[in-house]
Amino acid sequence: MTRRAIAIAGCGPCGLAAAILLHRAGHQVTLFERFDAPRPIGSGLMIQPTGMAVLAQLGLAPRIRREGARIDRLHGLAGARTVLDVSYANAPVPGLAGIGLHRASLFAALFDAVQAAGIPVQTGRTVTGSRHGPAGRVLAFDDGEESAPFGLVVDAMGTRSTLAPAAGHDLAYGALWATVDWVPDAGLDPHTLSQRYRRSSVMAGVLPIGPGEGPAPRAALFWSLRADRLAQWRAHGLARWKDEMLALWPQCAPFVDQIIDPDQLTFARYAHRTLPQAAEPGLIHLGDAWHSASPQLGQGANMALLDAWALAHCLSATDDPDAGARAAVALRRRHVRLYQWLTWLFTPVYQSDSRVLPIMRDWLVGPISKLWPATVIQTAMVTGLMGNPLAPLALRLDRE
Ligand SMILES: Cc1cc2nc3c(=O)[nH]c(=O)nc-3n(C[C@H](O)[C@H](O)[C@H](O)COP(=O)(O)OP(=O)(O)OC[C@H]3O[C@@H](n4cnc5c(N)ncnc54)[C@H](O)[C@@H]3O)c2cc1C
Repeated sequence: MTRRAIAIAGCGPCGLAAAILLHRAGHQVTLFERFDAPRPIGSGLMIQPTGMAVLAQLGLAPRIRREGARIDRLHGLAGARTVLDVSYANAPVPGLAGIGLHRASLFAALFDAVQAAGIPVQTGRTVTGSRHGPAGRVLAFDDGEESAPFGLVVDAMGTRSTLAPAAGHDLAYGALWATVDWVPDAGLDPHTLSQRYRRSSVMAGVLPIGPGEGPAPRAALFWSLRADRLAQWRAHGLARWKDEMLALWPQCAPFVDQIIDPDQLTFARYAHRTLPQAAEPGLIHLGDAWHSASPQLGQGANMALLDAWALAHCLSATDDPDAGARAAVALRRRHVRLYQWLTWLFTPVYQSDSRVLPIMRDWLVGPISKLWPATVIQTAMVTGLMGNPLAPLALRLDRE
């Protein structure tokens, strides 16, 4: 294998994981990030057994488990009706769980590994484009400068990547997210992602996310909101939102009480997009830069980690970076398409203005989903293991 100069644009989970793996394989890796100090944005996310398989290869699984919260169940109520009940105990393989984690914990674990490996990170570098020439691919920055040529550029700049062509669309609904202390007395299960719905237009959730590097466990609190109603939400003030939240979910009061300033809530907008072509000469789009969706199935960061692994795996088998990039895309394409489709299918059931879908969910899908084989199918879907993505990547599940 020839050692290559590889540029990775973006210090999210995908870029950081790819940097560690490619550096380990002997490539000369440079990371580029727009922020002056790389940092994560947002609150909680869920690591699935797929993502954990990659984190285990990076030697980070014990830290992620220690800093996160084990999630055994996803449970949602619409009024008194259970409309979501997914238990990891029904997974095709025993001993699996999700991990609820603060985004900063995932970022810190990966970034510490990048620094320990001595991988150069150029910060304050906003990538605006690239061009491909005989010497390789060159990155262009917002200050008008250009990089040296690279044998391969990895675009890991997320949904709004400046290296990718326009694709897909923003979704009408996003969510407000806040990090709060976990309150044991509230009576919520510390190993369950709990959600409450009214129709599909109102949704609230509490995800246990563990202590991180701190002393006490925390939770991510989220509230679904249409992007075009954000200004109105702000204008109405916190008190009105709290009343609405508590009318939907009185048990949530000890979490909601911790919000005293609207700025504690960060609005995340979602987009659904998949690039038709993820590999170009001297360039590969990975993670959200290739495919992004609503976090309804909680797969994005996990898919990004699998993409990073696939690239390192395929580059190790060839001296031609373009052939390696194409092989990585080919290995991941089927799983990516499957989950993009599943997320497209399920998102409106929980976040939309539809009147019909929530009725079907509450009276038909909810009850059926409690019966075998639906129990097994929905758990396979949530774990990320549907479509058997690990075997082609020579990855193994990591169980506690
Ligand atoms: C609210 C919310 C909840 C989510 N929950 C889950 C979950 O439970 N489970 C899950 O698996 N996924 C979840 N996701 C999705 C997940 O966060 C993404 O799929 C994941 O972060 C994608 O990683 P990435 O590295 O591809 O991109 P990103 O995390 O978006 O990272 C991109 C990086 O590129 C940098 N960058 C961007 N533009 C430029 C530029 N022009 N120049 C230089 N640098 C640039 C950014 O600053 C950033 O550091 C959630 C997403 C949201 C918004």
